[in-house]
Amino acid sequence: MSQLRHIGPKRTEALGSLGLESVFDLLTLYPRRYIDRTRQVDLSDLVVGDEAAVFGEVTRCSSRRTGQGKSLVDVTIVDHGATLKVSFFNQPWRASQLSTGVQAIFFGKVGDFRGTRQMTNPVVDVVVGASGDERDASRVGGIVALYPASGKAGVTSWEMGGFVEESLRRAGPLLDPLPEALRRDHSLVDRTAAYWGIHLPREMADVAPARRRLVFDEFLRLQLLLALRRRRLAETAAGVRHPFDEHDLDVAPGALATSDSSLVRQFLAGHRFALTRAQRRVLADIGRDMASALPMHRLLQGDVGSGKTVVALATLLMARDGGRQGALMAPTEVLAEQHAAALRADLAGLRVRDDAVLGGERDVVVALLSGRVKGRERATIVEGLRTGAVDIVVGTHALLSDDVTFRALGAVIIDEQHRFGVEQRASLRDKGRAHSEEGRDPDLLVMTATPIPRTAAMVVFGDLDRSVLDEMPAGRRAIVTTWALAPDAVDAAWQRVRDEVAAGRRAYVICPLVEDSERVAATSAVAERTRLATHELRGLSVGLLHGQMKSSEKDEVMAQFRFGEIQVLVATVVIEVGVDVADASVIVIEDAWRFGLAQLHQLRGRVGRGDAQSYCYVLGEPPSEEGAQRLAALVASNDGFALAEVDLDLRGEGTLLGARQRGRSDLRLASLRRDEEILNEARAVALDLVAGDGLDANAELVDELRLFVDAEEASYLFRS
Ligand code: ADP
Ligand code: MG
Repeated sequence: MSQLRHIGPKRTEALGSLGLESVFDLLTLYPRRYIDRTRQVDLSDLVVGDEAAVFGEVTRCSSRRTGQGKSLVDVTIVDHGATLKVSFFNQPWRASQLSTGVQAIFFGKVGDFRGTRQMTNPVVDVVVGASGDERDASRVGGIVALYPASGKAGVTSWEMGGFVEESLRRAGPLLDPLPEALRRDHSLVDRTAAYWGIHLPREMADVAPARRRLVFDEFLRLQLLLALRRRRLAETAAGVRHPFDEHDLDVAPGALATSDSSLVRQFLAGHRFALTRAQRRVLADIGRDMASALPMHRLLQGDVGSGKTVVALATLLMARDGGRQGALMAPTEVLAEQHAAALRADLAGLRVRDDAVLGGERDVVVALLSGRVKGRERATIVEGLRTGAVDIVVGTHALLSDDVTFRALGAVIIDEQHRFGVEQRASLRDKGRAHSEEGRDPDLLVMTATPIPRTAAMVVFGDLDRSVLDEMPAGRRAIVTTWALAPDAVDAAWQRVRDEVAAGRRAYVICPLVEDSERVAATSAVAERTRLATHELRGLSVGLLHGQMKSSEKDEVMAQFRFGEIQVLVATVVIEVGVDVADASVIVIEDAWRFGLAQLHQLRGRVGRGDAQSYCYVLGEPPSEEGAQRLAALVASNDGFALAEVDLDLRGEGTLLGARQRGRSDLRLASLRRDEEILNEARAVALDLVAGDGLDANAELVDELRLFVDAEEASYLFRS
């Protein structure tokens, strides 16, 4: 980079502070927006009341204090002979930023001050600094690209454009790894045109095709890497072939099953309900994966209440049918305990063969291993996992501790995966590999109730196969959601709580997320419980659940709530995921705007799990438009996937991609919202290239991909 003209040590440092260390970094720092000087409003045409972006050179700059002691910076700008006055209150730094000779864009509303037009506190983008801009400033005309955060590091947009221009000129025509035929088929301009067009467009019409090409490249790299990872996994991993007969899935409750039948069949024959079509389809996907020699690597998405638990159970039984163990990992102790209890109840009476016991047959053994299980009890379970006396283990991340080993781990299920890091997922799989015969990979199923829009799933979980439970069990009634804002409406919400409790059902009250601190949240929950128990809900049995309580206390409270000794449970978001109490029919969420949309939908999913009509009330007045839109969206829809799309619109993809997006593979230009079509095209091209020999034959593309992965992964993916 320092080989570029005008980039000495000082500039290198300034650019470094923007994360720009190579010419590649520079070329992929894309303009935030453009000003088209040819279509610029003339200063002389400005009318009071207009909101406008104007360009001008500072000819005068003075600062002083007003009568009230506020700082005031007055600036005069000139463009094409016309002038405009710009004033800044309480922004003393403007005096040094906008010294004479600086050229900048000013965005704001034109006001009138004693008969002269002026702008007050506009947004400012410095384009050309007063000095130090070696690039010929008199040429500021045509279209000017504005770069993000360039002002902060003391590098102007104009200078940045100059660096980019010099890099591009020196580089000459850029290597284009995409064959021309492919570019033609997908209407993609070549790389050289793309970089020139995005940074130095001659007209605005140059920008869109340039962007299209660069977005395509970003998606293509990502999809190629995902496709390669899958291919290598398929080549290198050895899975376990579990026996699976798809006909077993058609077994309805009450059907015939003998102790010779598979456990899956016995289980379904004795179960409380028949599978939904979606559950059957998903289990068929899973069964095929389990039976194949490749390890399963599958994501199961299903909205809250869609019935993922049964799918998990049947999957664990498939592993046991193959003579192997199954592990289910849940993100919290409450959930792990709930799963263990449900599994034990549902599996009661199922017999498995075991030559180690008298008679050669015994009950299925389900163990719970959470952080709370200690001492002797824990030692027994750990020993049982090692010898195979335990068939299924349900636990928290306690399952990952070093002394936990398996006789033969056949299936791993991770519930509510967004709570676990990618590393934890991998770590449980590695454990399976280490503790199954011949180092085979256990089958892996990741379950999530957080609906992810299709485009995002393609990017974030592109290396997993995907199954979706897109159908609710029959007879489920939509939850009636009300945004209670006026005092009357709030009263009605509490009245509903009292009515439902009087009818023998139960209620949740969710306390606001005060800060990102469980301790503070707990304090507020304690206070709210006291308040409700003495006011709105006087006379009812009101319990409390928060993250600062001991596990044993939490269990106790959950059990009391389940059995109705506690009628109303005041809780923090600890109950957000998975908690299943069928008799709960109303949930009140206080200061609901503080929660994200996905989280609100999760919370709402705590009710509506039984036969009764259920209700959700969201309280509180959002201080922002965005907060109001979230609540309105929640009221309007019960469909988690639809809400996920809304959420993506409201928040952008940054939050969504989170930790999975790291390093240089970041999508810098691409938008999952706007560019779905390009993503589809790029994915298809990537799959094609990897399936055929298109990639092996394209050394340039492979070299480029190497830039986006670390050395270790490169040698794994590209075998060199
Ligand atoms: P989630 O996907 O949120 O984990 P659960 O597995 O907890 O959903 O199921 C939600 C509720 O629906 C539970 O009470 C469960 O017993 C019930 N359920 C699941 N599958 C069916 C089905 N096929 N028919 C009827 N009820 C079902
Ligand atoms: Mg669940």
